[in-house]
Amino acid sequence: MTDSPKTYIGRFAPSPTGSLHAGSLVAALASWLDARAHDGIWLVRVEDVDFTRNQAGAAERILQQLTACGLQPDQSPVWQSQREALYQRALDALIRSNHAYPCGCSRADILAVLSAQGRLPARGQEAIYPGTCRNGLQGRRARSWRVRLPEDAGQPLRWSDRRLGAQSQVLSLEVGDFVLKRADGAWAYQLAVVVDDAAQGVTDVVRGEDLAASTARQILLQRLLGLPTPRYLHTPLVRDASGEKLSKHLGAGAFEPGADSLRAALRVLDMPASAPTVAELLAAAVPAWQARWAIAGL
Ligand code: GLU
Repeated sequence: MTDSPKTYIGRFAPSPTGSLHAGSLVAALASWLDARAHDGIWLVRVEDVDFTRNQAGAAERILQQLTACGLQPDQSPVWQSQREALYQRALDALIRSNHAYPCGCSRADILAVLSAQGRLPARGQEAIYPGTCRNGLQGRRARSWRVRLPEDAGQPLRWSDRRLGAQSQVLSLEVGDFVLKRADGAWAYQLAVVVDDAAQGVTDVVRGEDLAASTARQILLQRLLGLPTPRYLHTPLVRDASGEKLSKHLGAGAFEPGADSLRAALRVLDMPASAPTVAELLAAAVPAWQARWAIAGL
């Protein structure tokens, strides 16, 4: 007898750039609750492709923090740094289908072109690649690889989020031909995440709302690679006293693993948060999550 395939596979995909903070615990907890509420499988994937930002020992600390909060993955975690052959295969496929091209531009080159066009990015905005290498390197050395946005990227790419509702982004205006493999050889998050979500059979992505802005890029890559699009649910961000989103690079501290931190995360998610222990908090939250977020038909 074979097990019937699981209809729900979720994942938490931390980058080991530091310990988890209160905001990343919210995303981990929501993803775990959604998997449990749907009798699904919950995976943890260490997203360590950006070797310039990895911090030694951070992945192990993250896994310990999750365990201390009762969030145990159903399988051993996978590490993106061990999966680079998969990303290369995906890039090769995009090159073959003419959906990727080599780019010889440095950041300074890109800013010089945008400046001449009066299109410099506003503060905090990403530069939109002006397309310099779209039709060839013109004798320059390839530095990075970029996706070639298809013609219809001038139309809104629409998708639906279980919490935020209808979303759309015009990729050619808001993003441009984005990087798949960086000049320093690191695989871009956008490519690696799409390849791995598909390779691991992920049906449901539950993660922080800051990543909603990446979702259209990921759906585009799924389409270009012939991969399925998972369901998405983006969770509320935790802000500090000055209203800034907590983030590791802004120095948000690691949380103290245990019931107090879990209660704070449950409150952000509007879930019951009064039980005394980690186990009891989680046991009470699963049915509450199910009542609020059950996916019809699962
Ligand atoms: N690795 C990403 C991060 O830590 C999250 C990726 C994802 O959930 O899609 O921000």
